[in-house]
Amino acid sequence: MATGTNKRDYYEVLGVSRNASTDEIKKAYRKLALKYHPDRNKGDKDAEERFKEAAEAYAILSDAEKRAQYDQFGHSLGGGGFQGFEGFEGAFQGFGDIFGDLFEDFFGVRSRRGGGRGGIRGTDLEYSVEISLEDVVRGKEITIEFQRAEHCDRCKGDGAEPGSVKSVCSQCGGHGEVRISQGFFTMRRTCPRCHGEGRQITKPCHDCRGGGRAQKMRKLNVKIPAGIEDGSQLKVSGEGEAGERGGSRGNLYVYVSVKAHPVFVRAGNDLLLEAKIGIHQAALGTELEVPTLDGKVRLKIPGGTQPGKVFRLRGKGLPDLHGYGTGDELVRVNVEVPERLSAEEKRILEQFAKLKDGSGQPKSFFSRWQT
Ligand SMILES: [Zn+2]
Ligand SMILES: [Zn+2]
Repeated sequence: MATGTNKRDYYEVLGVSRNASTDEIKKAYRKLALKYHPDRNKGDKDAEERFKEAAEAYAILSDAEKRAQYDQFGHSLGGGGFQGFEGFEGAFQGFGDIFGDLFEDFFGVRSRRGGGRGGIRGTDLEYSVEISLEDVVRGKEITIEFQRAEHCDRCKGDGAEPGSVKSVCSQCGGHGEVRISQGFFTMRRTCPRCHGEGRQITKPCHDCRGGGRAQKMRKLNVKIPAGIEDGSQLKVSGEGEAGERGGSRGNLYVYVSVKAHPVFVRAGNDLLLEAKIGIHQAALGTELEVPTLDGKVRLKIPGGTQPGKVFRLRGKGLPDLHGYGTGDELVRVNVEVPERLSAEEKRILEQFAKLKDGSGQPKSFFSRWQT
């Protein structure tokens, strides 16, 4: 940054009178900052100089003490300009004060000023359970036990040893915010040291060493609703870890998987079951005893049942999660052809074949094709 007497007068730079109010100075500077902002004047060296010049003028004239000094001594005060104004980087320190407003006007983005006082929200936790298909029918209340961060009893989550005094935060000077340079800009951020509180612990709590939290076991009953799908996620609000410095609790997410059943296959609210019958049962009809999730029932198979035929047992499926009735059990009948026959069975089947002409060709196949 140029120093010395060839510098333009700060009032001239901002285009305001010597008795301009703080507000007028601020307005004038905002106008110039918008006009000469580097993002709007890419590669324009002159605009960049104007921008820096305005930032420097504003840094001085917006500070009552520095302005008074400038009014009295002008640019002649010291070779490096004013105390507390360290050239270009320093320009942005002063810039920071109105930066929030400017940022909103210019970029349509809200900076998060004054935020951070709400503390840090606790972490979400995840828990996985596996239930059986039978549990899906009735729903289930499970008891889970897990470890989570709780507020420390000794300091009530504050982190400071009870009775000790907190000092002003050394990083933000008690503002709760710090300015961070991002390229050409300075932005306000919640202070990382005090998390917006503005104060810092001088004597950390003996039990939690200042963290304000301690790991504790938590036992909790969770209701798994009837009809729940495999892979569902239940949100239990506020059962995650405790927040820091007054932040709200996280949530607990319970992932529910449903164990594969040895007999049934689930299809939404319906259950599928494969049943095997012999060719004689398919031809003559029979009565089967089939399992359901609440006991066995008898299923009548009429004579002449074709392979793959599906029988529906109404209401023997799973309850709908949202209470819209209950699914069915679908029994698909497969007809098994015996791989080995006893001599007697073979004899009888050969007799049966003779009755059927014994041509060895499917009758219907020819009748449909050759006539
Ligand atoms: Zn503690
Ligand atoms: Zn701080």
